[in-house]
Amino acid sequence: MNKTGYFSHRDCRKHEMGQGHPECPERLDAIEDRLLISGVGDALERREAPLAPLADIELAHGRMHVASLRGLTDGLREDITAGGPPHVQIDPDTCMNVFTWDAALRAAGAAIAATDAVMAGEMENAFCAVRPPGHHACRDQAMGFCFFNNVAIAARYALERHGLQRVAIVDFDVHHGNGTEDIVAGDQRILMVSFFQHPFYPYGVAHSTASNLLNVPVPAYTRGMEVRELVMHEWLPRLEAYRPEMIFVSAGFDAHRDDELGQMGLVENDYAWITQQIKAVAQRHAQGRIVSCLEGGYNLDALARSVEAHVRVLAEL
Ligand SMILES: [Zn+2]
Repeated sequence: MNKTGYFSHRDCRKHEMGQGHPECPERLDAIEDRLLISGVGDALERREAPLAPLADIELAHGRMHVASLRGLTDGLREDITAGGPPHVQIDPDTCMNVFTWDAALRAAGAAIAATDAVMAGEMENAFCAVRPPGHHACRDQAMGFCFFNNVAIAARYALERHGLQRVAIVDFDVHHGNGTEDIVAGDQRILMVSFFQHPFYPYGVAHSTASNLLNVPVPAYTRGMEVRELVMHEWLPRLEAYRPEMIFVSAGFDAHRDDELGQMGLVENDYAWITQQIKAVAQRHAQGRIVSCLEGGYNLDALARSVEAHVRVLAEL
């Protein structure tokens, strides 16, 4: 048995938000190439991501939000037939093409299928190479390149459909996972721990708004050693005390030193180290169960190298 699953789908590549947009299909190509060249891909159990059922999406989102995105997709298709532009704008950074709906369902479907596979003991953990990302998607609003909150959906799915009582969400993207917070704040079955550059997009409050959230805002130019300190002294004690039965990771790699969107200073070794810490908690309390979903990461080389470092630790390579 391969210990680590790899969930993706070609539909995730078809979603694009216009020329020059940093959240581009080539991000997935860069990851695939790197896993192929390094040989890491050979050690992974590859699975196609299914389309998430809408009933599962609605574990984390309002029915109106789901219906509105579907409506925008239908409207866009008609507009294009009538000679209109190929995108419909959601916010200044976020738009949909005709493939976005399916890509978003595949991204959430990957997280759900990975949860099923890990819960069934078919694999110890899994990485979902998906886009669009999810952690800015609020219960009732798409924003910041995100439409459905893949990690929040999967966390709720593990609670509701697999009967778990405590799950953790770990978010190491450079941006604050405001969407995840919006969905899980006050839900004591979920502990969310994160750090993020502050002040920075999405310009929300820095400190936790509910007792099940542990936010650690950090200034621009924070480097790996300081991040390791905060993980050791703030994240790990909370995670240890909480004893999660499964861990979901919002795996954004835009806190990398080479990333053009963030201004933090992490490198591949830092991602490997953080992943080791998450894995140790999972092994102590959660039978090793981890589902990690791609969020940000916009320098293609740094993204690919960082994902490799992350997956190497998950798969113990
Ligand atoms: Zn980000």
